[in-house]
Amino acid sequence: QAKVKGRAQVCGYEPSMQTQITWRLEMEQALRSALTEDQLFAQYQPQLDQNGRIFGVEALMRWQHPVHGWISPEVFIAIAEESDLIVELETWMLDSCCELLARLPAEMLPRLSVNISVRHFTQPGFVEGVTWVLGTHGIDPSRLTIELTESIMIDGLGEAVDRMHQLKRLGLNLALDDFGTGFSSLTYLKCLPLDELKIDRSFVSDLDSDSNDAAIVETILAMAQHLGIEVVAEGVENEAQLDFLLARGCRRFQGYHFHRPMAIELLEQLLSRSQESAGSGQITD
Ligand code: C2E
Ligand code: MG
Ligand code: MG
Ligand code: MG
Repeated sequence: QAKVKGRAQVCGYEPSMQTQITWRLEMEQALRSALTEDQLFAQYQPQLDQNGRIFGVEALMRWQHPVHGWISPEVFIAIAEESDLIVELETWMLDSCCELLARLPAEMLPRLSVNISVRHFTQPGFVEGVTWVLGTHGIDPSRLTIELTESIMIDGLGEAVDRMHQLKRLGLNLALDDFGTGFSSLTYLKCLPLDELKIDRSFVSDLDSDSNDAAIVETILAMAQHLGIEVVAEGVENEAQLDFLLARGCRRFQGYHFHRPMAIELLEQLLSRSQESAGSGQITD
């Protein structure tokens, strides 16, 4: 809040700041009750391999506010991250994800990814919590991927990295989300036990028009190959972007070109259809 005040003084714009603080407090309060009042949902976005097969699904949190309607996770996750509310929300999310993994066989849903905030990840007892929820639902840990952002590296190679190693020992997959937008150090990168890098969609979206973005994407792909880390390209929206990525060895994709995030009912329909066509030996791409 000190930061907010400081900025308000610089801008000389106290009233609107006050309004904004009030709004945030109201939102935080509303978000707290959202959990108990069933206003939170998950949507699911498939991730495809180079043959067009769904190898995984990312779970994304949704909030339907009774008055304001759908609120973007970019907004409400940031509010939740200001307190331990994020821990409550993501604990609920992890539990729903494990429930889904338990319900659907691995042939149908091989892997599910869940986003975990650094604040939650560095909380004491996080690893124990994950172990517990996997055990309760009887989930093979290799079916769960935890997506972290680069801010995990902000304090250097400390406790967060130990924690990542603990999760790897449990058998989980770790992904680095929004890669290229945050605090990236290549030195750190090679020390992290990562299975997957997700190239941020801001680089993918301008692949055809921005030669810098094209160079960055090429470099990330080459580097990841050297480090033995899989790359998922986020935000693939058209054939041209897909072709560019395929030509440079990218083998995993996620984006509107394939599927938008969808409700659980639609996901289940899609997964059973893909399973049938895979079973009959049809190529799905
Ligand atoms: P993210 O983890 O990078 O998730 C991918 C975001 O890109 C999703 O936005 C998805 O809908 C969007 N997306 C996927 N393909 C395309 C595409 O082709 N074009 C465009 N324009 N967008 C695409 P969404 O669902 O709005 O989520 C935004 C962010 O909110 C997520 O980015 C993630 O950082 C955060 N978030 C969502 N759920 C959670 C959660 O449970 N915990 C945490 N910590 N963060 C979450
Ligand atoms: Mg993500
Ligand atoms: Mg991302
Ligand atoms: Mg993001």
